Amino acid sequence: MSLNLSVIGTGYLGVVHAAAMVQLGHTVVAVDVDEAKITQLSAGKAPIYEPGLPELLAAALATGRLTFTTDYGRAADAHVHFVCVGTPQRPGENAADLRYVDASFEELAKHLHGPTLVVGKSTVPVGTAQRLDEMLRAKAPGGPDVTLAWNPEFLREGFAVKDTLHPDRLVYGVEAGPRGERAKALLDEVYAATIADGTPVVVTDFATAELVKASANAFLATKISFINAMSEVCEAAGADVVSLAEAIGHDDRIGAKFLGAGIGFGGGCLPKDIRAFMARAGELGADQALTFLREVDAINMRRRSRMVDIAREQCDGSFIGKRVAVLGAAFKPDSDDIRDSPALSVAAQVRLQGAHVTVHDPQAMDNARSKWPDLSYADSALEALQGAHVVLHLTEWQEYRELDPKVAAEHVAQRRVVDGRNKLDVARWTAAGWTLRALGRPTAL
Ligand code: NAD
Repeated sequence: MSLNLSVIGTGYLGVVHAAAMVQLGHTVVAVDVDEAKITQLSAGKAPIYEPGLPELLAAALATGRLTFTTDYGRAADAHVHFVCVGTPQRPGENAADLRYVDASFEELAKHLHGPTLVVGKSTVPVGTAQRLDEMLRAKAPGGPDVTLAWNPEFLREGFAVKDTLHPDRLVYGVEAGPRGERAKALLDEVYAATIADGTPVVVTDFATAELVKASANAFLATKISFINAMSEVCEAAGADVVSLAEAIGHDDRIGAKFLGAGIGFGGGCLPKDIRAFMARAGELGADQALTFLREVDAINMRRRSRMVDIAREQCDGSFIGKRVAVLGAAFKPDSDDIRDSPALSVAAQVRLQGAHVTVHDPQAMDNARSKWPDLSYADSALEALQGAHVVLHLTEWQEYRELDPKVAAEHVAQRRVVDGRNKLDVARWTAAGWTLRALGRPTAL
């Protein structure tokens, strides 16, 4: 059945969710407080780089079943409201900043007059859904008829369209009893096409649903930091973390995914989510359970410093007067998201230590420029390489893997490259006369 939905917040999560829900057959009003974003979206222009999104958005707008607005009132008639606003890290603290979630629920509540389902998708600390449920009942004019569900989102930027239309699983956090049953039935209708494809659904309570998201991210962050810890040991022992990862990844119990050693994770989710998880566990008196995440975070941040150290070594011990080319600004390939980007963090540290840094990224240049105006930017990878004493490969875009090292060699002052992602073809680069250094690999490859 076709439902009327609203999506509150049209960022990396919300815009994809809104367009995907139209694809599933529903009618969607998408609301954001950012007027410029709404104007852009209404004109059919995706405000972010996400593969497949422009096509999904165009198709959704062409149906006439997708509208964008800054007016919450236009969402009032929706059967289901999906809240997708940001939950960044609080400045100077580990905890999540819930001001956007609270503001969006407060504003939405004013417009909820009859039976409606509100569905939280944002990543929130455990206990938030319970608190918001009580708030909705107290403040929404249709209070007793308003039901809350928590339906955490697991999409990966770069694969967001596929992950939204074909997720690995759906998780519904609902309350016990008839209200929860109604919420589940309505969510089943929203996701009918996805469920018909065989997507498993896990129905649980609010707290568990919130913790599923936090623990999934904690596990993924731990896996990356595990291999990066092995990378540190490999460096000390003269061993090769790439071979090690390949070998342990053959074990099904370990699995080969998320074992890429390098400069570590970043972005708008993993770093802030593991910190918020630790902060919340502390509030609940369970901080000891998550002390390992402090180490996970520390290992991750150490990789960035190690990258800077290797780059400095390759500049013969000092960055002063040296030109450094940085390939990549986004926190991961196939995204323009630069939030907590390891690449830009390394670039900024290298610049702070005296180098002239030129950055290139296929999609994240505008975002990078506005956040880090002091770095220099080049329109192409080869232009960034011009006169470089060392090249740092920091975001593993396909374009960089396909760079011809012979052509690249013609642009640099010295054929020195540091592969922060362990994705360059070592044989090709060394055959073209380059010295290639990498994290967690022997000096002479
Ligand atoms: P984002 O910053 O890209 O988008 C948030 C949007 O919410 C912005 O457009 C902002 O203008 C809007 N907003 C803020 N306050 C609002 C309000 N009161 N009313 C309406 N709109 C408002 O963030 P994001 O990356 O889309 O993340 C959103 C949530 O989803 C976060 O909790 C995040 O942890 C979670 N999440 C994100 C991803 C991801 O890959 N980006 C994946 C899974 C979960």
